[in-house]
Amino acid sequence: MQTLDLIRLSTAIGIFTLMISWEYFSPRRQQKINRQQRWPINLGLAVFNMLLMRFTVGGIAYLSAVNAVDQSWGLLNQFALPNWLVVIVTLLLLDFAIYCQHVLSHKWKLLWRLHQIHHTDLELDASSALRFHPLEIVISMAYKVMIIYLIGANPFAVILFEIILNGSATFNHSNINLPEKVDKVLRRVLITPDVHRIHHSTVQTETDSNYGFSISLWDRVFKTYCAEPQKTQTTLDIGLPQFRKQDQVGIIKLLLLPFKGS
Ligand SMILES: [Zn+2]
Repeated sequence: MQTLDLIRLSTAIGIFTLMISWEYFSPRRQQKINRQQRWPINLGLAVFNMLLMRFTVGGIAYLSAVNAVDQSWGLLNQFALPNWLVVIVTLLLLDFAIYCQHVLSHKWKLLWRLHQIHHTDLELDASSALRFHPLEIVISMAYKVMIIYLIGANPFAVILFEIILNGSATFNHSNINLPEKVDKVLRRVLITPDVHRIHHSTVQTETDSNYGFSISLWDRVFKTYCAEPQKTQTTLDIGLPQFRKQDQVGIIKLLLLPFKGS
């Protein structure tokens, strides 16, 4: 488990470093609000959430998958399938489950109270991928464990999925200037930064689209895919209409936001 943790952490740090360097040298948008104002909030939440998981239920996803195999619980543990197939099906089903959770986080008011913290970022870059309310992290973990037991997820695939999901989120929140041609090809399969940026637009119909994190398949199948914003990628307004100023979204305010009356 420790080796796996190390691989997971070093991959996450590696992709993060790559993205922030790329953003620095070749940004997609000129940011109106600088890093010094936003990063303490995003990185502060990241450190808090990491410590929270470390001292509570950090490895629970992997351990649940191991337990599900031992007990022969869940869909995939009912059949004698080749390992490679189990890994692929687990990855796809977990990704679909996260897509559903994301849609639910927008549609269900109670979950939106938590998820809106992620959407209060007034610019997007790799650090935005870390901006989540601690309670949303805990609820996501509980949801993931439930799904792992239901599908009888392969333990190796669970770790692989966490690495892929983390890497995809860092990539698709980043402010990197990806050549248009590359974006066009990639977005057929993956959620690129230009695709995910639309989800962070202040325009409601755009926020209600592009829920995927890794692959664009689910958005295309369930007709939530939006290819272009009303404005342009470099001028669209990021965030929520009711939070347009940086002093409205300090870290303490964000932590308390879900508990405020509507
Ligand atoms: Zn969202």
